[in-house]
Amino acid sequence: MTTHLVWFRNDLRITDNRALHAACEDPQAKVIAVFVATPKQWESHVMAPRQAAFIYQHLQALQASLSGRGIALFYHQCDDFAASQRWLKDFCQQQHVDTLFYNKQYEINERERDAALENALQESVITRSFDDSLLLPPGSVTTGEGTMYKVYTPFRRAFLERLAESDSRSLPAPKARDIDGDVTMHPLTPFDMPQQEIGDDFPVGEDAARERLRTFCRETVQDYLEQRDLPAVDGTSSLSPYLATGVLSPRQCFNRLRTECPEVLDRRDGGAFGWLNELVWREFYRHLLVAWPTLCKHQPFIAWTDNVRWRHAPQDLQAWKEGKTGYPIVDAAMRQLNATGWMHNRLRMIVASFLVKDLLIDWREGERYFMSQLLDGDLAANNGGWQWGASTGTDAAPYFRIFNPTTQGERFDKAGRFIKAWVPELTDVPEKHIHQPHQWAEKLHRVLDYPTPVIDHSHARKDTLAAFESAKRGS
Ligand code: FAD
Repeated sequence: MTTHLVWFRNDLRITDNRALHAACEDPQAKVIAVFVATPKQWESHVMAPRQAAFIYQHLQALQASLSGRGIALFYHQCDDFAASQRWLKDFCQQQHVDTLFYNKQYEINERERDAALENALQESVITRSFDDSLLLPPGSVTTGEGTMYKVYTPFRRAFLERLAESDSRSLPAPKARDIDGDVTMHPLTPFDMPQQEIGDDFPVGEDAARERLRTFCRETVQDYLEQRDLPAVDGTSSLSPYLATGVLSPRQCFNRLRTECPEVLDRRDGGAFGWLNELVWREFYRHLLVAWPTLCKHQPFIAWTDNVRWRHAPQDLQAWKEGKTGYPIVDAAMRQLNATGWMHNRLRMIVASFLVKDLLIDWREGERYFMSQLLDGDLAANNGGWQWGASTGTDAAPYFRIFNPTTQGERFDKAGRFIKAWVPELTDVPEKHIHQPHQWAEKLHRVLDYPTPVIDHSHARKDTLAAFESAKRGS
């Protein structure tokens, strides 16, 4: 009997999983699965403990789903990628594995690990890898010269043309396999990492993720363009933690969207298309990461921006992390991140701009801090978002575009509903003063138990423009 091994990584689902589906195609084969945890590696590459906890919960759910289909999930924990690669080689030998199936990861260290393992297995085990975590594989959407696009809009145009022609159907979960006896439930031990609570905003399981997707595409997506920038409204899908860990696939998102809004690829002005556009941004950043692997090493896309003389300001950085900058919208956003591991996209843009363009602190400090907290931490999207906000990335905001944190708050959280939910010190401040509470308190001679602004925005703006201009001149 041939043995097929499915190596799960960040694809923790049984529905629409290309590697799993391929491994199960032969009804005669024995199919087993494995997950190898590498907590030290994850920690050194800054995975948030709460994301690790989210993965662990989904691993338990995955083991139960697989066993219901006659597939045993083995589990091993070791320090890093090198150790995992050695262990997997021995495991394949012990289990007499004929073919190893896995879905590709595109980050540089992961790609090097996979290449090394394939090399080590060369003579003994066939390996089959799949493009699964994207709608279209990296390298498949290119300019006339065959290179990756550096600008988003032409990328999207070419991407959508290819998408319309491609087979993006979702695959069903495998059928239960015919096996003798019960499947062994190999014990799963919690990852050897600091523990962090996850709230109940993101229920566990593929079913919960699919239900959220269905409800969003039925009830909310039509209003996406009007609501997506308002943090006090549930106007976005909140699916990012599921997509980042592979509990949900982008094909499932696209197909559900097409089922509910069949005109999505033809009518390019409504909410459905607006949401698809965000899924395409997700693809853009991953395609960029493969074309420019230095992004994985946190190098700026625009080389001269490395000459910007960032401030060394540990106290300001700490105030930003803790949500104590004295700018209500920034503080509310950071407190939401610290408490839940999730932050609204508009707020990610505001706090990134504030750290880089008000405090003039190196964007990599923010990128790293986000990864240490986010439930949806994803190297490509996070690096893309930070490089966009810091004006160091390709097709990023120009360096002279500097958000004013007060007017951003006024535009997107006018009545301060979101602010009040996260900054209880401001509960009594009237709506129209919520974005500048100290001015209100001063007039009324009231004492506010809330920090005064760490920096004056208009001065900071001038200093930042000067720092970028000087870096550009020096390049
Ligand atoms: P929706 O608006 O419902 O969008 C649907 C999906 O599209 C998201 O779940 C996500 O997978 C993808 N998406 C949406 N916007 C973007 C975008 N701008 N770039 C890439 N993909 C996008 N997203 C992450 O998944 N992980 C990160 O680590 C991450 N870090 C970010 C850091 C900064 C500074 C910025 C500005 C953005 C970052 N984003 C990141 C992108 C975006 O903020 C989140 O994907 C989004 O807020 C998740 O909420 P949602 O699921 O409700 O999104």
